[in-house]
Amino acid sequence: MPSPFKTRVAQALADSDLRTSQARASSRLQRWRNASFDELETPWPDLQAAAAASRRAALDDLPRLLQQLEARLVQRGVEVVWAEDGAAAFRYIAALATARGLDTALRSRSPLAEEIGLNPALAEAGIQVTNTNFGDYILQLAEDRSSHPHFPALHQSAADVANLFERKLDMPKTLDPQAMGSMARFRLRRELPRHGMMIGQVALAAADNGMLVLVSDAGEDRIAASLARIQVLLMGIDQVAATVDEALFLAQMASRSAAGQDMPGAVTMLSGPARAGDPDGPGELHLVIVDNGRSALLATPFRDALACIGCGACHNVCPVTREIGGQAYGDGYTGPIGAVLAPLIARAPTKSRRPTRDTVPPVTAAGIPLLDPTAADLPLASTLCGACADVCPVGIDLPEMLRSLREARLAAGRPGLVDNTVRAAFRWATSNPANYHRAHGWLQRRLTGSIAPPLRAWRDGRDLPTPADKLFRDRWAERNRP
Ligand code: SF4
Repeated sequence: MPSPFKTRVAQALADSDLRTSQARASSRLQRWRNASFDELETPWPDLQAAAAASRRAALDDLPRLLQQLEARLVQRGVEVVWAEDGAAAFRYIAALATARGLDTALRSRSPLAEEIGLNPALAEAGIQVTNTNFGDYILQLAEDRSSHPHFPALHQSAADVANLFERKLDMPKTLDPQAMGSMARFRLRRELPRHGMMIGQVALAAADNGMLVLVSDAGEDRIAASLARIQVLLMGIDQVAATVDEALFLAQMASRSAAGQDMPGAVTMLSGPARAGDPDGPGELHLVIVDNGRSALLATPFRDALACIGCGACHNVCPVTREIGGQAYGDGYTGPIGAVLAPLIARAPTKSRRPTRDTVPPVTAAGIPLLDPTAADLPLASTLCGACADVCPVGIDLPEMLRSLREARLAAGRPGLVDNTVRAAFRWATSNPANYHRAHGWLQRRLTGSIAPPLRAWRDGRDLPTPADKLFRDRWAERNRP
């Protein structure tokens, strides 16, 4: 029985509409990204090296930077809360809403909220959350999940959204993205004032002056943040920069890498609740700093993955993600960085993450438990071509991490029948020239012809070149024959 991941991959590969819209969107984003960096005077390698150095220095100095940040924020009246895991974060937010007599909240784009399963957890506690990010709003209407860290509804085509809006918003059908966007904005903005709590995510916090930098593509998040009396911001323990200049530089790198924008659509900088005499700002500001497995990762070879600034550029260039889309990866983490983080970060159990009989059991990679064994197959979704590392604005060596996670999976002793068969066959074929000859003949016949079912599944999932008619050795011998 295939693993849940392989089943999702097979479904994605069978969906030609999804593959077409995914490929189009990824190519467009990649073009915009390239053009945006090409126009700068500073060469890309220098920018990448500067961003990488900033993130690594912050990870090296994390305890001090976090303490400095906390001290600055507490001074200005921010309630700073440390959450060991998603459950602790959720309990705090639910208790806060209940204490303030609120049963609704708004939520802006927050991969961290997705990681800890915040919306469903709050719904179970009787608190209904409305997503304000346009992509998240579409997904909420469609009861769907995100496929990209920056553009959560990337997998939805214009036709999908038109049908959805006709069904759920009673909107006359149109494929005009502007008209659809205006209608959604109109509905959403009408709702914003009735919510007392806004939940958002810090893109990066600056330790030097305690500034919390929030970014969004459109103004909804910003309007909601200005209207809501209580603002709750989530941040991972890794999302801190030493200075505000570094935080803004990294936010620029992320927006250029995501969609070629020189700055995000909207940048909000918050340093505390509104003071007496301030014209606007939240009445209460709560910062929930979430660990959820990150501090354990810091002491491992995978620590660099925490340098990620969530731009999604690795998704847009990955030849595998471009084919299968982000949703095939499961809930929350997607793309090459998702394939690294998903097995290593503890997440809320959901139906699709419940271990099955065929789930690879928890294993250890360099002493790290794979916290989410249902995601242990995700590192297989890569050609290890290195394109993700080339475009990553903070230079994370994703291919090397994916390779290590594959090793960990093999060490768990559950590579699967097909993997074992293919490896054994390769060993046999390369053990001596006679076997190599036989294997060549067999491959020539079988790569296009009939083949037993387990190997057929392996073959059909790959683009394998047809072997040459003759081995190089034979052609060489013929050529040099007197
Ligand atoms: S790993 Fe790099 S390219 Fe991928 S989302 Fe993170 S920062 Fe962007």
